[in-house]
Order: sequence, then structure tokens, then C-alpha cells
Amino acid sequence: RFSFTVLKNRAEQKHAGIIAVLQDVTEQKALERERQEFVANVSHELRTPLTTLKSYLEALEEGVVDDPELSRRFLRVLLNETDRMTRLVTDLLQLSRYDAGQYNFDFQPVNVPELLQDVVERFALQSRQENIELQLDFPAHDLPPVKADRDNIIQVLDNLISNAMKYSNENTKVMIQACEVGEKYVRIDIMDEGMGIRKRDLTRIFERFYRVDKARSRSMGGTGLGLSIARQIVLAHGGTIEIDSEWQKGTRVSFTLPVYEEMKNES
Ligand code: ADP
Repeated sequence: RFSFTVLKNRAEQKHAGIIAVLQDVTEQKALERERQEFVANVSHELRTPLTTLKSYLEALEEGVVDDPELSRRFLRVLLNETDRMTRLVTDLLQLSRYDAGQYNFDFQPVNVPELLQDVVERFALQSRQENIELQLDFPAHDLPPVKADRDNIIQVLDNLISNAMKYSNENTKVMIQACEVGEKYVRIDIMDEGMGIRKRDLTRIFERFYRVDKARSRSMGGTGLGLSIARQIVLAHGGTIEIDSEWQKGTRVSFTLPVYEEMKNES
């Protein structure tokens, strides 16, 4: 689709002519639609927990407050919902900073096996509680360091490993593997034996707020933004990210990070 603008030069009648500006507005329209959808999604995502908060607060006011056991349960729900709303707003602010190109990365050489060990330790308690085994797998030889912002890559791993656990059942395994790809990249794979994702959902899974099962994601504290944030961070590192999944079998998310190249000494 094109917009068509005619500009007439009135001031200098003698040399008057017509300047036609042809502009493809298809992309503009698509961006505008995306923006509108995003605002609608954000409003909906904030209104849902607010509705929950209101109904629980009303119930407390109408008498539940006199039942200490039930009150405690209601307060737990209220706290979980406010935590999720805080996470949602934090995620949104982070995405908006990224959209404005403000990454503020501090790139350093990062040792991948060490980083993965640190991250996996943070999940030790959850892993025991949910009876999901976390397994690390590295090649016997040393991996080269990658060029990365440590905190941001920790966030990517947090998002991916918590997804792997969120969408898996008890007595399953989550495997985290690292290997070299050529000489320029290191690849990290997070594989689970969980519920998987149907092929038709897979193509849209990195979109903001796209969730296969909204109710399940919400009840697990999800915001629907984890994968899109992970993707944005990895791409801004010069890496790639992909997802592969088999329904009812499991999911694998793989991402690459560039190897840290020592600055060549020119002298
Ligand atoms: P959420 O906060 O909902 O987990 P994400 O952006 O992290 O949001 O993931 C988007 C959706 O992708 C999830 O709601 C879930 O439906 C699906 N998903 C992500 N990771 C997995 C996984 N490892 N196994 C199955 N489904 C997954």
C-alpha cells in the first residue's frame, strides 16, 4: 500500500511543478498495529491480577478476615499476585529500555562452565523441592571464554531454566549442555522432558506475551515476556537463539554467544 502526497510549489509560479512523494505505508501500518496490540496486551495483563486482588480483598472485607486459616491463604495469593505484577512491570521497563537501544552491557570474557555451575546452584532448592534433576554437561577440553555481560546472560539462563522446570513434571531431568561451534561461538542448550510445545505455537513463541497456556503460565508466576527478553539479550550479544520442541516429549532451547577475542597488540 502506498500513500500519495502531491506538493505544489505556489511561491514560484513560473517554475511551478509537482513533487510526488510515494511512500510505502505497509510497514508503518504493521508497526502501528503491533504497538496497539502491545498496549492492549499490557492493559489486559495488568487488569487480570488487579481483578484477582480486588475479589480476594472484597472476600476478606466481607468476613474471611475472621477465619485466620483462610485469611493466611488469601494473603499468600495476594502477595504472589503483587510479586507477579512487579515482575511484569520490571520486565516491561527492561524491554522498553532495550527498544530504545539502551543495553548498557559490560562485556567481559566469561567462562561458560563456571557461569552455568553458578546458575544451576541457584536452582538447587527448587530442583530438590520439585524433584527435577538438573544435569550439566561440558566437553572434556576447555571451552574458550565468551564475550558477554555476565548479569544479562545469567538472566537469560534464569528465564530458560525456570521455563524448563515450570513446564516439566516431577521425576524428570533438565539437561544443560555447552559446546563449541566452529571457532567463533559457544552454544548452550537447555533441554527438558516436559510438556513440549505444538509445532503451530512454536513459530510465535518468542513474541511478547505469546503463551500456549495463559492460565498455567500465570499460575506459575509467568509474565509471558521471559523468552522475548532472552532473545533480545542474546541477539544484542551477536548470538542466535532457537527453540525446538516435541509435544508431550520435551523442549530444547539453544543459544550461541561469540567467543571472546583478545585485542590484537598492534605494536
Ligand atoms: P512465561 O512467563 O509464560 O513462561 P515465556 O516468554 O518465558 O513466558 O514463555 C512463553 C511461553 O512459551 C510459555 O507461556 C509456555 O507456553 C511456552 N514455553 C516456554 N518454555 C517452555 C518449555 N521449556 N516447555 C514448554 N513450554 C514452554
